[in-house]
Amino acid sequence: MTIQTVGIIGAGQMGNGIAHVFAASGHDVLLNDISEEALRAAVARIEKNTARQVAKGQLDEAARAAALSRIRATTELGELGGQDLVIEAATERETVKDRIFSGLAPSLAPHTILTSNTSSISITRLASRTDRPEKFMGFHFMNPVPLMQLVELIRGIATSDETYRTLAAVVAKLGKTAASAEDYPAFIVNRILIPMINEACYTLYEGVGNVASIDNAMKLGANHPMGPLELGDFIGLDTCLAIMNVLHDGLADTKYRPCPLLVKYVEAGWLGRKSGRGFYDYRGETPVPTR
Ligand code: NAD
Repeated sequence: MTIQTVGIIGAGQMGNGIAHVFAASGHDVLLNDISEEALRAAVARIEKNTARQVAKGQLDEAARAAALSRIRATTELGELGGQDLVIEAATERETVKDRIFSGLAPSLAPHTILTSNTSSISITRLASRTDRPEKFMGFHFMNPVPLMQLVELIRGIATSDETYRTLAAVVAKLGKTAASAEDYPAFIVNRILIPMINEACYTLYEGVGNVASIDNAMKLGANHPMGPLELGDFIGLDTCLAIMNVLHDGLADTKYRPCPLLVKYVEAGWLGRKSGRGFYDYRGETPVPTR
C-alpha cells in the first residue's frame, strides 16, 4: 500500500515537525488539534522553519511553497477518517489518546493505518481498543523532527507484516532511518534517555551540582551536545515525567521512580522551553538557570 494522504492529530511540538517533513516529502497533510491557537502556531512554525531551510539552501522557494500548499488544518477530528495514514501526536496521556482513537472510529476508512507517536504508552494496549489492531503501529519521531534522522517503529502484538512494511517504506520516503523496537515501556531511545534526565534531576535535587555544573559536566565530560537538564526542558518536563511514570508503572522497579524535583517543576507549570521556564528561564535574551 502507498501512503499519500496523512492525518496528524495534535499540532504541538511534534505534530508541527511531523507535518513539515510529510509535506516536504510530497504527502498531503491534514493537521488536527482541539485548539485553534495550536493549529495557527503550528502552521506559523512550519512557515518559519521552511523559510530557514530556504535561507540555508536546503530547500528552494518553489518546493517550500508546494510543501506549504499541501498542509491543511482542521479542528474537526472526523475529517481525518479518510486518510491513508493517521499519526496521533497529542498530549502524552493514555485517556487523551484513547478518546482520540474512539472519536475517529465512526469516520475511519477501512484501509486507514493508525499510528501513535507516543513516547512510552503500550502500542498493544492502544491498538486493542481500536477496530484494527493489525493496522496499528507505534511511529515514534524524535524532536526536532525535521533535523533528527531516527524513527522508531514499534509493532504491537497484532501488527501485521504489511503494516510494518508500509511504514518502513514511508520512513525511507521521508529520507529518515527506521529502528525497530519491541513494545515495552518507552521502547529503546526513551528507556535509556529519560532515566538519564531523571538522574540529572536527582543530582540537582541532592545538591551534587547546580543546573549549570550538571549540564556542563555532561557536555564536556561525556561529549553530549546538550546537557541533560537543557534536554529535559527541550523535550518538555511534563513529557519526561509522564515517561518516568510509565516506566515505573510498567516495569515495577523502584529505579524508575520520578525525582520529586521533576514533579515539583511540572506542578509549577515550569515545563521547559514550551512554557518559557523549566530548569532554565527562557523569557530573557539568554536562558538563565533556575537553580
Ligand atoms: P505538546 O504538548 O507540544 O502538544 C500536544 C498537542 O496535542 C497540543 O497542541 C494539544 O492541544 C493537542 N491535543 C491535546 N488533546 C487533543 C485532542 N483530543 N485532539 C487533538 N489534539 C489534542 O506535546 P508534544 O511534545 O508535541 O508531544 C506529543 C506526543 O509526541 C506525545 O505522545 C509525546 O510523548 C510524543 N513525543 C514527544 C517528543 C518530545 O520530545 N516532545 C518526542 C517524541 C515523541
